[in-house]
Amino acid sequence: MDLTFSEKETAFRDELRGWLADNPPSPEPTDGGEDANYAWRRDWQRKLYDAGWAAPGWPAEYGGRGASLTESAIYFEEIGRARVPLPANVLGLLLGGPTLMVWGTDEQKDRFLAPILSAEEIWCQGFSEPDAGSDLASLKTRAVKDGDGWVVTGQKVWTSGAQYSKWCMLVARTDAEAAKHKGLTYFLMDMEQDAIQVRPLRQITGESEFNELFIEDAWIAGDCLVGGVGNGWKVALTTLMNERAGLAFFLQVRLRRLLDDLIDEAAARGLLEDDVVADKLGALHVKTEILRLTAY
Ligand SMILES: Cc1cc2nc3c(=O)[nH]c(=O)nc-3n(C[C@H](O)[C@H](O)[C@H](O)COP(=O)(O)OP(=O)(O)OC[C@H]3O[C@@H](n4cnc5c(N)ncnc54)[C@H](O)[C@@H]3O)c2cc1C
Repeated sequence: MDLTFSEKETAFRDELRGWLADNPPSPEPTDGGEDANYAWRRDWQRKLYDAGWAAPGWPAEYGGRGASLTESAIYFEEIGRARVPLPANVLGLLLGGPTLMVWGTDEQKDRFLAPILSAEEIWCQGFSEPDAGSDLASLKTRAVKDGDGWVVTGQKVWTSGAQYSKWCMLVARTDAEAAKHKGLTYFLMDMEQDAIQVRPLRQITGESEFNELFIEDAWIAGDCLVGGVGNGWKVALTTLMNERAGLAFFLQVRLRRLLDDLIDEAAARGLLEDDVVADKLGALHVKTEILRLTAY
């Protein structure tokens, strides 16, 4: 595999690198907690959006630049290199939008894509449940047809950013009799309703990146179903494929950045001469490179 960039890819990188150098985000807030941090990332997304850099991988007709996969990889590498944050609506930009482009109706694309790009409406991903993680298709959250829409009851977990979200990509069971992968349907659930309780999960770092969702008779309008009844597994796979190509690519860049900091810190303390430290850093370097090449 040849990972040398073409002239077009190098020009893309240079333009982005120049823009990031000239347009850094405002300083990260030091107080105000996670809410202030989130507002800061939302402002950052608006700045990216105004310059056409919020989602270069989206087709031009939806407000992107039609960037190739390699250019999208360059985008994440440059964001990591410039040490700027990911846009606030990362799940909408990387997962939700691309899923709608494949499976959404024209009306859904018109309604949802623009506010994802501008960070007007934040999205979260309601897939995992307490007994359905790796085995996602065993999920139990139920959606029952009711007139023009659907009524949903169940529990989700690890829902990143739910506390800031307007829309949730929700996979729910609509047919309990069908084989487990076939009884699922993909919905867009409006998070602004009393029937949904969002409870933050406190991590060891003190932050609450993700949440539990308790859903008791929540309402989903009929036009918020994506890809057809019983087709939820296929639609969810589209979301997950985009998660791997986009989000996972950025996360390995972030890991590289953290490791470089650690190596600098060890060097500053004169610890690179210590065989044990050098061995451990070397092993971490190899693992990080493996992740980077796997991501490519
Ligand atoms: C930072 C972060 C953010 C996340 N954000 C979201 C989100 O926004 N929305 C969302 O829906 N989910 C989210 N998740 C959840 C994530 O997708 C789940 O953690 C994942 O699906 C794994 O499920 P689990 O945690 O229940 O682990 P489990 O499925 O219980 O797995 C536990 C362990 O058992 C192993 N294992 C499981 N099954 C088998 C098997 N059959 N054979 C051998 N080994 C097995 C696994 O490899 C793992 O090591 C997030 C997770 C993380 C870490």
